Amino acid sequence: MARILLIEDDQVLGDALMRSLEQAGYTVDWARDGITADTALKDGVYDLALLDLGLPRLHGFEVLRRLRARNNHLPALVMTARDSLEDRIAGLDLGADDYVLKPFHIPELLARVRAHIRRAFVSPNAEITYGPLVYDTTTRLARLQDEPLNLSKRELGIMETLLLRVGKVVTKEMLVEKLCNWDETLGNNAIEVYVHRLRKKLQPHGLDISTVRGLGYLLDKRDD
Ligand code: CA
Repeated sequence: MARILLIEDDQVLGDALMRSLEQAGYTVDWARDGITADTALKDGVYDLALLDLGLPRLHGFEVLRRLRARNNHLPALVMTARDSLEDRIAGLDLGADDYVLKPFHIPELLARVRAHIRRAFVSPNAEITYGPLVYDTTTRLARLQDEPLNLSKRELGIMETLLLRVGKVVTKEMLVEKLCNWDETLGNNAIEVYVHRLRKKLQPHGLDISTVRGLGYLLDKRDD
C-alpha cells in the first residue's frame, strides 16, 4: 500500500486525480497550495509526490527545492504544461524524477505512478512472488497457489504493505499511515482485527504474519 501526496490547486483536475488514484488503491492526501504541501512533506510519510508547479502561496519549484534540501529522496512526479520546456528542465534540475505533460490521460499518469512506486520497493516488476503468493501490482489481484485470494480493501492494503517490505518489520503506525488519508483514522485494535483476518486467509497456504512483540508485523513463509 502506498501513500501519495497530491499537490494541485485546480479543483476539477484535483478531483479527477484524487478519484482515480484512490480507485487504483492508493491512500491519497490532497494539498491545494504550496505551503500545505511543504508542511505535509515535512511531517508525512509518503511514497510519491505528484506535483503541480503553478500553486498559490508557494511555487511548486520551491516545494521541490525545499524537499530536496532536506535530503528527502521521495519520488516526485511533476505535472507541467506541454509548451513549457524551461519548466521541465528546471524541474528535473531541482530533483524531479519525472514529469507528465498537461493535459494528460489518467491511465498514462497511473502507469508512471506505479512504475516509480515499484522502483522504490522490492521489485521492478509488475508481479511480485513470495512463496505461494503471486501479487499483480497493476491489477491489485492476488493469487495463492494459483487460486484467487479474496481480500477486503483493508486486508489488501495490509498485505500489500507487508509484501512490498518483505524481510522488514512493519509497525502498526506505518500500517495506519499507509492505509489512512487525512480524513480517515484507524485504531490499533482495528489493525489487529484486519491482520488477524488476513492471517487466517494466508496460514492454510504456508504463509504467516508474525507478530514481533512491541515492534509490529512481518510477512513470513512457514517452514514445514
Ligand atoms: Ca496550478
